[in-house]
Amino acid sequence: MVQVTPASFEILTPIAGDTVLKHIERCGRTCYQSFDKMGEATHTRFAAHIVERHHESVLEHFSISVKFIIDRAIANELTRHRMASFSQESTRYCCYSKDKFKGEITVIRPIEMHPQSKAYQYWFDCMLEIEKTYLKLIELGEKAETARAVLPCCLKTEIVATANLREWRHIFKMRCSDAAHPDIRYIMRQLRDEMKRQIPIVFDDLEDKA
Ligand SMILES: Cc1cc2nc3c(=O)[nH]c(=O)nc-3n(C[C@H](O)[C@H](O)[C@H](O)COP(=O)(O)OP(=O)(O)OC[C@H]3O[C@@H](n4cnc5c(N)ncnc54)[C@H](O)[C@@H]3O)c2cc1C
Repeated sequence: MVQVTPASFEILTPIAGDTVLKHIERCGRTCYQSFDKMGEATHTRFAAHIVERHHESVLEHFSISVKFIIDRAIANELTRHRMASFSQESTRYCCYSKDKFKGEITVIRPIEMHPQSKAYQYWFDCMLEIEKTYLKLIELGEKAETARAVLPCCLKTEIVATANLREWRHIFKMRCSDAAHPDIRYIMRQLRDEMKRQIPIVFDDLEDKA
């Protein structure tokens, strides 16, 4: 029977915040030939200087991979970011009637739909119908790549996104704003705050904005 799972993320790249900043400093000081100024604690000030001056190309020297569990509509929004690389679960090659998927589809509840609401019950009933139709099409001999025509926008997908620090900053500016779709805003605000926790300076100026 249809599974409902929450959206989530996992940062795949091992991050040691100070090491990231030291790497950024080592790359960026090439511009000024100021290696003589490097010390034990200079990386923090150097990174702050880079962000304040919008000298953001220096932030392109470190990339982070993140695995998301989100719905397909939100994954579609994510993949519009051209400066990132993606690997995504395929509805052509993954056949959800197979045992490894327990013969069921998995969906993500739209974050603004309350699980105790009447709307939620209608939505869930619709997911059951979709699953039934998908499984019937497979039983009738259609391939997954054809049966997928009935799958919903809220189908769960796993997608790995790799982007450099500059591009993550850009993604957060666009996708954490009040204008962004609630489902992408929900996951991106959490990811931004986690990156802030793990890497000093680089994301500190990014706040929730309309
Ligand atoms: C609130 C919101 C609503 C949206 N609504 C729609 C919609 O209705 N329909 C729709 O189709 N899309 C929509 N989008 C998607 C949006 O238009 C962008 O495609 C998406 O946000 C990726 O942003 P980007 O192009 O800035 O970033 P990226 O592709 O991540 O690129 C990063 C930056 O690189 C530069 N860049 C990249 N490629 C080029 C290029 N070819 N030429 C010049 N500079 C480049 C730009 O400075 C760009 O900002 C929406 C996005 C948001 C946040």
